[in-house]
Amino acid sequence: MKVVKADLEHVAVKPEQYPTTLLPELALAGRSNVGKSSFINKMLNRKGLARTSGQPGKTQTLNFYEINEKLYFVDVPGYGYAKVSKSERAAWGRMIEEYLAEREQLKAVLQLVDIRHNPSEDDKLMYNWMKHFEIPVILVATKADKIPKGKWQKSLAQISKALDKDPLDPILTFSSETGHGKEEAWKTITKQLKV
Ligand code: GDP
Repeated sequence: MKVVKADLEHVAVKPEQYPTTLLPELALAGRSNVGKSSFINKMLNRKGLARTSGQPGKTQTLNFYEINEKLYFVDVPGYGYAKVSKSERAAWGRMIEEYLAEREQLKAVLQLVDIRHNPSEDDKLMYNWMKHFEIPVILVATKADKIPKGKWQKSLAQISKALDKDPLDPILTFSSETGHGKEEAWKTITKQLKV
């Protein structure tokens, strides 16, 4: 998809703040530092639109990016920060759960995992939780430039196995450094969201 317009239109911590338009939404989830902001910026051709490396203690919000007046990317705060307090973690959980479990416009979740590592316990929890709610997931293995291309398939197979991935959920490779995987990611997203 050719992105001609992309802006952060809504920042929400509760449902009353979600957009009232009925555009389809793709939520983006992943462990902190997995490369989520870099992914968003690359996909939208906008350096610095999504904040990179979100700091612990920063307000944890759902950020709605409206794209071509056709769909939203919804940036979900990164999980797995060791430094956040129990109460912050609980608040995060409630906000995310409220959104993921109840949002009609949510058509799929794009979950990012690092191609170099086995999925963490948090990655597994997140994936299982989405499967429990029957949400389609697009898995994206980030930082593909960090390992040789010859090792990609093996890594994807390991990640799929560790997550007990549903065969219907696609798994893609991506590098925000080289732009590899951008076309494929857009194809997969537009197909899933029917836009
Ligand atoms: P976030 O916390 O998930 O939003 O992660 P960021 O997008 O801030 O990325 C975390 C770090 O990984 C930054 O230093 C990025 O420059 C780096 N990074 C992100 N994506 C890639 C990638 O595809 N390749 C490489 N080599 N580095 C990446």
